[in-house]
Amino acid sequence: MNKGRLFIVSGPSGSGKDTLLVELFKLCPEIKFSISSITRKMRDNELPGEKYNFISKEEFEEMIKNDQLLEYNYFADNYYGTPKEPVISAIENGDDILVEVDVNGAAKIRKSLPECTSIFILPPSIDALKARLLCRGTESEDKIRQRLSYALGEIERAFEYDYVVINDDLDKAVADFADIIRLDRLRTDRNIQFINKILNK
Ligand code: 5GP
Repeated sequence: MNKGRLFIVSGPSGSGKDTLLVELFKLCPEIKFSISSITRKMRDNELPGEKYNFISKEEFEEMIKNDQLLEYNYFADNYYGTPKEPVISAIENGDDILVEVDVNGAAKIRKSLPECTSIFILPPSIDALKARLLCRGTESEDKIRQRLSYALGEIERAFEYDYVVINDDLDKAVADFADIIRLDRLRTDRNIQFINKILNK
């Protein structure tokens, strides 16, 4: 059986990546999503176990101690981490899985699983990014400023990624993302078993 592919997705808050990913999963429902464990408070529009598992700082530190995380980061006073087991089992079972992490998380995963494909979601401009952060209305001005300065630092690291998707027109951005996945599945290293089958090996 071919192994599953790991897609790493990053993009600053306000890049519209959540909406983009919701639409992408409608097009590609076969791709699994890695649910992060995080310690920040749940927002009104979130549900537990959908994108995140909301856990306490103590529970998170227990996961670190037990080596249960593929990577983790401390960001805006909270821990964010990718549980290791679901990602590894998906890949081993031949399922594709998408992990949404910040740039530091992506760099760590790339080191341990270098055969992954990484995609960076860009806003069309800094003004659009600012407007989206303000529109959200869920955070204080101070937190928004903190997120904006972190966002600029993240965009500087877009060069580390295999692909970028510019999220200006949502439909086009989703189509671009789906194209990346489609092409990734045509890679020779994804089809070794198939080639060997034709060769009767
Ligand atoms: P938010 O609090 O807005 O949901 O997410 C803040 C940031 O945390 C985003 O940049 C998001 O990509 C990142 N993030 C979400 N889950 C993880 C994770 O499991 N690990 C890391 N390193 N970053 C994450």
